[in-house]
Parts: sequence; C-alpha cells; structure tokens
Amino acid sequence: MNISETNTSHTTSQTKSGLKFCPKCANSLEERILEGKARQACTVCDFVFYRDPKPVAGVLALKDQKLLLIQRGNEPKLGLWSFPTGYIDIGDTPAETAVREAKEEADVDVELDELLGVYSNESRTVVLIIYVGRIVAGTPAGRAEALDARLFVPDALPELAFDHDYHILEDLLRPKTDSQQTEFPINK
Ligand SMILES: [Zn+2]
Repeated sequence: MNISETNTSHTTSQTKSGLKFCPKCANSLEERILEGKARQACTVCDFVFYRDPKPVAGVLALKDQKLLLIQRGNEPKLGLWSFPTGYIDIGDTPAETAVREAKEEADVDVELDELLGVYSNESRTVVLIIYVGRIVAGTPAGRAEALDARLFVPDALPELAFDHDYHILEDLLRPKTDSQQTEFPINK
C-alpha cells in the first residue's frame, strides 16, 4: 500500500473534510469549534466526529549495507522512491504490517531488529511506526503498487517521495549514543 500525504478514506460517505451525515442519527453535521479545534458535530444528537491520524507501519530493510526502496506506482509522488509502508489492518500488529508490506511491495522476507521511531507526515494525517530490519530471503522486485524495488547504498539514494522519508533516514544513519542503545529496550 502506498501512503499519500492526504488522508484517503476507505468509506465513500467520508469526504476530505469529514462526514456529511451523522452516523448515529443520520441528521446533518455542522462545523463547530470544540476544544479549540474545528470539528464536525451533529445538529441533533451528541455525536462529534473526531478525525484521527491513521497508523502506518514500515521497515527500513537492509542487506549488505544497502537500503531497500520501492518506486511508487501511485500518485502522489508517482515514480519517486520510498520505504515499504502500509496502513495497519485491524487484527495486525505494527510489526506484522511492516513485514507484510515488504513482502507485498518488494517480494522480500524481512526480519525486524528494532523500532527506529514514530513519525508524522507533513499534513499530520498518518502516524508512521518505522522499524529497522534485514532482508533474509528474496530478491527485491516491484510488486503490487510498486513499479520497482531495489537496494541502494545510503549515500547514493534516488529522490525520495516525502519530506518525512528524509527525516526517517537521518535517524537510521545517525550514530547511536550509549544512552539510546540499552536504556529503553524494545519488546518485539
Ligand atoms: Zn446525530
């Protein structure tokens, strides 16, 4: 799955600005300022539509000191490169999603080593949970929405699709301090 900068919805009743009708009583929604933010609230019952960012998981998959990237086959940023990422389906963990997306988009099996960090995209519509892992089987090949999938040396990467991709990459390439290594062990 490809992550876009806008929050594309899985339901047809939801527009970019939110719902049109109350899912509880089917009356109209109106924009109201609640807790200091513009929200859509029902004109009849007590329903308030709280828009949440969607959780996304992905992996920086390494092999022989090279980084796996996939070439986007969808707008926005069609043709640019990014990491395998995808929306977390209900019932799946973030780690399972990261492994699944590497298989679906790049046809490789990965094992996760650690959580790199938690990020937002520029429009704050997703929360990205990004792992570091290793390719343990398979040769990268573009699958699903990915036009291509390849390994790159970190100092010769193609243009990346999103500003947050560069932010994530900085964290991968930054040398770890002693306090980061073992103070907060990660339960996988
Ligand atoms: Zn209502």
